Amino acid sequence: MPPHIAVVGSLVTDLVVWLPHFPRQGETLHPHRFEIFAGGKGFNQAVTARRCGAVVSLVGRVGDDSFGQMFFDLLEREGIDPRFVTRDPIGTSLGIPMIDPHGDNSIIGIPRANTRLSPVDVDAARPTLTQAKVLLLQLEVPLETSQYAAHLAGESGATVILNPAPAHTPVDALFPKREPWVDWLTPNGVEAEMLTGRPVADVDSARQAAQVLLSLGVRQGVIITLGALGSFAFTRQVEAFAPAFPVQPVDPTGAGDAFNGAFAVALAEGQPLEHALRFANAAGALCVTVAGAEPSLPRRVDVERMMNS
Ligand code: ADP
Repeated sequence: MPPHIAVVGSLVTDLVVWLPHFPRQGETLHPHRFEIFAGGKGFNQAVTARRCGAVVSLVGRVGDDSFGQMFFDLLEREGIDPRFVTRDPIGTSLGIPMIDPHGDNSIIGIPRANTRLSPVDVDAARPTLTQAKVLLLQLEVPLETSQYAAHLAGESGATVILNPAPAHTPVDALFPKREPWVDWLTPNGVEAEMLTGRPVADVDSARQAAQVLLSLGVRQGVIITLGALGSFAFTRQVEAFAPAFPVQPVDPTGAGDAFNGAFAVALAEGQPLEHALRFANAAGALCVTVAGAEPSLPRRVDVERMMNS
């Protein structure tokens, strides 16, 4: 039986522009390519978890507009339970990722519907949240909504993973009372730096950051992803490292989402930690080889092929 994963998170329509360079003040730039992709960290992680073999339900909000309809069509195509995605007249959240010729990106976000995902929406999804093996959260919807979902699913025995992305929530807001409310925290290097106030670039600095984060209120462990270096896991008892798979990067968008969606599946399946890191690294590596987020989110068959290569 495939495990059941619930994702409470964002859905964002990405209007992606490929630029000769990032705009300077006062400059008008014409992209040499423009595409519209369905994205948002919640949606991307849900799609990855589904493509990697889980039964997935998504709790979120989209607009009462054509971008919102696009999400319902995609959820149906992917086989993700859409019953707890609500339509909101405020409009679908939009993002404008800008990618330069080196593959580096900067993103402008226009939040809209995601900002109105509330504990009431989470309550409506109670039947699915209380059955999930893993609950996957990020920081693109209101924090109180994520905390409420963590409380509800956690009480029913789900493992709660928080990917603290994007890096804009201060650590005191995330863990105000130092009371643990997540099992696994999965920052990338930038997010780990922001949360701890220390530079994170290698295993030693990642270990130090993880120790700080563990003391703040994480029940089981901290996973720090470091792009082309790979990923590190730290619990109070053990640590594990999995090097990245060597690939030719085309577009880094979505690597963290692919990693988290795949890691959630690996945990839900009870894979040992080191194997789970390799599985998630393969998903992240596959993701950076294809442009855009949704089209680049990997399928299990490709993840397993990369692991065996
Ligand atoms: P984010 O997308 O959140 O910034 P990372 O860049 O750390 O997250 O990527 C997540 C994971 O994806 C990494 O731990 C790694 O396994 C994989 N990955 C990312 N970039 C590359 C790359 N250039 N080559 C190989 N794997 C990569």
